[in-house]
Amino acid sequence: MAKRVTGPEIEKLIQLLAKVPGLGPRSARRAALHLVKKKEQLLGPLADAMGDAYAKVRICSCCGNVDTSDPCSVCTDDRRDNSVIIVVEDVSDLWALERAGAMNTAYHVLGGTLSPLDGIGPDDLNIKGLIERVGKGGVRELIIAVNATVEGQTTAHYITDQLGGLDVKITRLAHGVPVGGELDYLDEGTLTAALRARTVI
Ligand SMILES: [Zn+2]
Repeated sequence: MAKRVTGPEIEKLIQLLAKVPGLGPRSARRAALHLVKKKEQLLGPLADAMGDAYAKVRICSCCGNVDTSDPCSVCTDDRRDNSVIIVVEDVSDLWALERAGAMNTAYHVLGGTLSPLDGIGPDDLNIKGLIERVGKGGVRELIIAVNATVEGQTTAHYITDQLGGLDVKITRLAHGVPVGGELDYLDEGTLTAALRARTVI
């Protein structure tokens, strides 16, 4: 067994940081060491910021976005065109589309995609909430902006089927989204082009 160089508190900090996307055990150790060395300038403010975020973070009951208010700042923004809803898999996709700034619409976060192999069915995703939203009326277009994976496309077809009887135009992202591509990794120009050239399903 390796000799212990730090106490359990710092060891725990390293273990938790290693679970953050983009950080492995090695980067986590470097980050932890940097934080404890910068105790006053960084570790303290970070601990406070995390405490605040923990206390205030909410999942929007309307669209599924993460925010500190429910409904979220996107849903309560009356300068948006709420008759168009962009359906995304994850909050990171919503944020990516907002960064691209191509559309000024409402969103709906599914929380994943249908994946029978992984045991993820319609009830595990925020699909019912979407159907209810559309069912209330006032929505003229649904842009299904899921990733170009088999699961993403299966999910798009399922949603289209479920909304069959409702008077809403359903479109999806056009070219520009590589097969298997994840929206979050696309540059803003590609995302904007894919949105503008969307096609009716
Ligand atoms: Zn919302």
